[in-house]
Amino acid sequence: MAGFVAFMLIIGRRVIPWLLHFVAHTGSRELFRLAVLAIALGVAFGAALLFDVSFALGAFFAGMILAESELSQRAAEETLPLRDAFAVLFFVSVGMLFNPAILVEAALPLIATVAIIVLGKSIAAYFIVRLFGYGARAALTVSVSLAQIGEFSFILAALGTELELLPAVGRDLILGGAIISILLNPILFTLVDRFGKRAMGDGLPAIGGAESPMQGHIVLVGYGRVGSLIGEGLLARGERFTVIELEDDITGFPPDELATLVQGNAADEAVLKRAGIQSARMIYVAIPHNFEAGQVVQSARALSPAIRIVARAHSDATVQQLIDFGANRTIMGEREIALRMIDEASVGKA
Ligand code: AMP
Repeated sequence: MAGFVAFMLIIGRRVIPWLLHFVAHTGSRELFRLAVLAIALGVAFGAALLFDVSFALGAFFAGMILAESELSQRAAEETLPLRDAFAVLFFVSVGMLFNPAILVEAALPLIATVAIIVLGKSIAAYFIVRLFGYGARAALTVSVSLAQIGEFSFILAALGTELELLPAVGRDLILGGAIISILLNPILFTLVDRFGKRAMGDGLPAIGGAESPMQGHIVLVGYGRVGSLIGEGLLARGERFTVIELEDDITGFPPDELATLVQGNAADEAVLKRAGIQSARMIYVAIPHNFEAGQVVQSARALSPAIRIVARAHSDATVQQLIDFGANRTIMGEREIALRMIDEASVGKA
């Protein structure tokens, strides 16, 4: 096992990212997809063969190593359809392992298992988050997110039974507890959302700005490479704007009375409202993820039918999708790059 971890940390961390970069530079999408699959399956199989760890644990480490690479997002996108298909198969196999008799035969131990997962884990998480200085609502959201167990516990339980460290009934209890906790989770989220809002107000803490009392301002979603340039431009024009940014640590956010920052996910309507979407005159959706951008556009249009929406896109399909969701204008990065490059053809021409 120690040899396996050393192998993964030293060779895997260096060789795999290098290999991914090498394949990405060939420019072939198919080759990249094949490389990601070959690495994932190869590491999992190699780990099982050489170090005698389970195939599932090997695959888990392969995923961790792929995530280390700068190309991990692309790797994840390439394997997304397969991941969904395998996830379905995985849960089918978990469902087949589940022994419903446990509900009657060991009802009390099962209730105790569910209590440990739902209450034990979340109480610990609540206090840890509070210890780091976050508010009660953020702590509650984190603890509810952790009030369930999933795939990794199934892997550990199966491994435990295989190695005769865990009796079969222990595995059944874990499986039963996991399934019940997954079923309870949406209910808990609804409760926290409803009671949390009533008791503690609407939303997560804002950095550098409270509830937005602004009128006729601009909302800017995402303050990365694109959003920060838009922000600079808006400041130069003396425009008042509110940034919504997922990350809570933004270097270079302008300490200016024209700019306000709301931290949170813009796909959440409560966050959009806190940025004053209903009284804003315009919103820039400057995030790179198509799916979330679509959600933001859709919510912004629903909350403010007259607002002007300008969204960032990365493909023709996304452009159409964003327009269908209610965007007034989409700017596709690749197309703008091409247009600017075409302009260069006239340079030096007599
Ligand atoms: P870039 O691709 O460099 O322009 O960065 C995009 C920025 O948008 C990053 O700083 C992300 O943290 C931020 N971002 C991505 N998704 C969201 C979201 N749903 N809500 C708010 N900010 C986001």
